[in-house]
Amino acid sequence: MAEVSPGQLLIAGEWAEAASGKRFETVNPADESVLTTVAAAGAEDVERAVAAARKAQDEGPWSRMPAAERGRILWRMAERIRERASDLALLETLDTGKTLFDSGKIEIPMAASIFEFYAGAAGKVGGRTLGTRSDAFLFTVKEPVGVVAAITPWNFPFLLASWKVAAALAAGCSVILKPASQTPLTALEMGRVGLECGLPPGVLQVLPGGGATVGMALVRHPGVDKIAFTGSTAVGREILRESAPTLKRVTLELGGKSPNVVFADADLEAAARGAFTGIFYNKGEVCAAGSRLLIERSVHDAFVATLAERAEATTLGDPKEKGTRMGPVVSAEQMKTVLGYVECGKREGARVVAGGRRADEVNSGKGFFVRPTVFDAVTPEMTIAREEIFGPVLSVLSFEGPDEAAALANATNYGLAAGVWTRDVGKAHRFARSVRAGTVWVNAYNLYDPALPFGGFGQSGFGRELGLEALDAYLETKSVWIQL
Ligand code: NAD
Repeated sequence: MAEVSPGQLLIAGEWAEAASGKRFETVNPADESVLTTVAAAGAEDVERAVAAARKAQDEGPWSRMPAAERGRILWRMAERIRERASDLALLETLDTGKTLFDSGKIEIPMAASIFEFYAGAAGKVGGRTLGTRSDAFLFTVKEPVGVVAAITPWNFPFLLASWKVAAALAAGCSVILKPASQTPLTALEMGRVGLECGLPPGVLQVLPGGGATVGMALVRHPGVDKIAFTGSTAVGREILRESAPTLKRVTLELGGKSPNVVFADADLEAAARGAFTGIFYNKGEVCAAGSRLLIERSVHDAFVATLAERAEATTLGDPKEKGTRMGPVVSAEQMKTVLGYVECGKREGARVVAGGRRADEVNSGKGFFVRPTVFDAVTPEMTIAREEIFGPVLSVLSFEGPDEAAALANATNYGLAAGVWTRDVGKAHRFARSVRAGTVWVNAYNLYDPALPFGGFGQSGFGRELGLEALDAYLETKSVWIQL
C-alpha cells in the first residue's frame, strides 16, 4: 500500500495546520482503510485565506502581471502535471476508487490539457471598440472578477478543479479551492504544483474541510467576489440563497438525469458500447452520466440483453489492478444511497436484468462495491427515472419514433447532457435541436474537449465551464467613454 502523507491547508503560499487544530480522515473506498488525515479548515482559516487572496488580487502582482506571463505559469503547471501524472493518478485512485486507467490515462492528462488551453487563452482576452459616435470614443475592457471560491465535488477531484482553477487564473483572478471532504488529496497537490511553478502567494490557496463550515463561510464572505460551484442541485440552491446578500457572481454546475437515446437505425454495436460507458464510466459517478437509456422499441430486447451481458461480465476489484474494470463507489454513505435507489426501483416495479446488489464477494466484503445495475421496464414516473442516483445504475425506457423520444428525453427538471445514436443525419440534428440540454452527443457519449463549453439547462445549473465561455465567466466587462 502506498504511503499517503498527511495534508495541510495551503494559505498565502505556505502549508499550515487549521487554526482549530482539527483534522479529518480520508478513506480508501476500496478497502475502507484510513488513507491519511487532512487539516480541516474553519472560519478563521477562511479569514486568513480571503485576506491573502485580496492582497494578491488588489495589490498585484497577479492581476497586474502581463497576461502572457500568467499564461506561461499555467503552461508550466500543465507540464508539471504531466510529469507527475502517475503519482497524481495513484492518489486520485486511492481517494476516489476510480480505476488507475481512468485517472492515469484519461483524467490527469485531460487536466493538463485544460491548463494548456487556458495558458494559450490568457493572452487573448480583449474588449471591443465601438464606432457608434463621432463625439466620443467608446470601448470595453475585460477585468478579472476578483477573488473566486471554487467549490468542487468528489467524483473528478483533480479534473473538475482544473476546469475552474485554470480558467480563473488565466482571467487574472485569485482562487480559494475548497475540495470535497471525501476526496481532498489531489486538490492539495494542485496547490503544490502552483507553488512550484511560480504562482505568487495567495493566488491559489486550498482549504479542505466541510461544506457546511468552510464552504458556507466562503459563500457568505464579503471578500469573495465569485463562487464557482460544482455539486448537487440541493447545495447549489443553498449557495445561491446564501450568496445573495453579498450579490456574488455565481456559476452552478449541478446534477443531471441525462437521456441517452438509441434509434433502431443506429450502429447498435457502437451504441451499446456508448450506452455502457455512458452510465458505468467512473462507476456512474458522473454528472453527465447517461442514466436514462431510451431505446426504440423494435431493437429494445436485443439491446438490453447485450447491455445486461456486458454489465454482468464487468470485473470489479481493486482499482489499482490492471484487470479491474470498475472500482468501488466513493463512500459508505454513497453506497447506501445507491443501494437505496436499487431497492426503490425493485419496489416500484422495474425489472433488474443485471446487478441490483452490493458486490460483497469482492475483497471479502471490504470496500464499497456495487454491481453495475441495469433496470428494464422503467416508466417515466418511477423514482429511478426521475432522480439522480450518481452510481452504477441504469434505467431503461422504450419509445416509438422521434417525437416520443424527444418528449421522454425532456421529461426531467435537469438538462445537463443528452446522447443520440442514429445513422440518419437529419434525425440526429432534429433531436439535438429539440432536447433541452447543455451538451448533446451524437453517436458518442461522455466526450469532452477543453475548447467546448459544458454546463446545464434547467436545474442542472447555469454558467459554462470550459472553452472561452468559462474564461468570460471569470471576467467583468468595463465600458469606457472618452468624450472627444
Ligand atoms: P455536494 O453538493 O454534496 O458537494 C459539492 C461540494 O460542495 C463539496 O465540496 C462540498 O463539501 C460542498 N458543500 C456541501 N454543502 C455545502 C454548503 N452548504 N455550502 C457550501 N459548500 C457546500 O455534491 P457531491 O456529492 O460532492 O457531488 C455530487 C453532485 O455533483 C452530483 O449531484 C453531481 O451531478 C454533481 N456534479 C455536477 C457536475 C457538473 O459539471 N454539472 C460535475 C460533477 C458533479
